[in-house]
Amino acid sequence: MNTLFTNANILTPQGVVRGCLGVADDRIAFVGELPQDFLVERSIDCEGGLLLPGLVNAHTHLSMTLFRNAADDMELSAWLQDRIWPLEDQLDAEACYYGALLALAEGIRGGTTAFNDMYFFEESVARAVAESGVRAVIARSVVTGADGGKSRVEEARQLYLDYNGAEDDRIHVAIAPHAEYTCSEETLIACEKLAHSLGARIHIHLSETYQEHEECKLRHQLTPAAYLASLGMLGEETLLAHCVHCDADDAALLGAAKATVLHCPQSNLKLGSGIAPVMPLLAHGVNIALGTDGAASNNNLDMFEELRLAATLHKGVTMNPKAVNAKTALQMATENGARALGWQSGRLQEGYLADVVLVDTNIPSMQPVNDLTAAAAYSASAGDVLLTMANGRILYERGEYYTLDIERILANAARIKDRLGL
Ligand SMILES: [Zn+2]
Repeated sequence: MNTLFTNANILTPQGVVRGCLGVADDRIAFVGELPQDFLVERSIDCEGGLLLPGLVNAHTHLSMTLFRNAADDMELSAWLQDRIWPLEDQLDAEACYYGALLALAEGIRGGTTAFNDMYFFEESVARAVAESGVRAVIARSVVTGADGGKSRVEEARQLYLDYNGAEDDRIHVAIAPHAEYTCSEETLIACEKLAHSLGARIHIHLSETYQEHEECKLRHQLTPAAYLASLGMLGEETLLAHCVHCDADDAALLGAAKATVLHCPQSNLKLGSGIAPVMPLLAHGVNIALGTDGAASNNNLDMFEELRLAATLHKGVTMNPKAVNAKTALQMATENGARALGWQSGRLQEGYLADVVLVDTNIPSMQPVNDLTAAAAYSASAGDVLLTMANGRILYERGEYYTLDIERILANAARIKDRLGL
């Protein structure tokens, strides 16, 4: 299917370009002037709207949408132990399927085209991702349980063998030890060996809270980042969620390893965990992508909120209005995540995979039109998204879902919420 977007303001790596964007099958065919030989099968008049690369939610737990607004105003250890873990014990494949579908529907409606998930019943998540049309890295969350983590590591291996590269490469599989404080050294080493043998990414929570960071230092005489480095777990394929309490030495270590930090500002604020040291991380060349974390600690999956927080929070922290400018924040929300997750997407550029979002500019909150890069970072909201395309296929357009039955998803999510006793 060839799609032509006309009358658009297109956010390219070189800045905003006025004109057309053509999509041939799953790739962007051109940006700017319509070539004479481009066969148009569907033409969409953007009416001056803003075309952005699809947003990349680089750290989340999709099925946790079921727990939205069910555990609030609590600190992380109590939030996990008293509320979330008992709820998670009741989850099954069906619950995770509908929870993931609900998350994907929310993401698609808000311009998100790729997700990095870590949770349970990932076969259900894979099914939801396959049906929805988005991209996702999925991973079985590994903790050291009764059998020392062996069964979960084996499940992680099987998930990789079954799904990595599935659905025309829309699904990738990572190996996800949950965190240093939930995994024994033996489990972490098993995960590292597995990821290494498969060539898979590692996705792990790191230094999310002060307590976790300090306890790791007591246990191992190393910060969590230095501890992972000592186990050979830091590299270009390592995705580290949060890193709120990483110190200057950690930042240097992560930069040298070319690791990716998955910055989740809203979740870190809501759980009272703190604010990640993004400026030192950037200074050391760390790749930074953005995520919402799960809907139980956010409490939505709105990537425009993360984008705006990333672009404002560090200005306040450093008292420097130049910190994380609009362009840098947009890169964090798009291409940095796409690259870390292994897709040639996240840019509106010829040859890139066609993950494209149309944002309405003909609304009061986006007018008058001045700098549209600033508008995307500081003014736009998820509700302003008119159309979402992933892999060259339109998934959502002006209130209508093309791949998902939203009524069925909402009804089942409500039914499962009741079943969980929420
Ligand atoms: Zn998380």
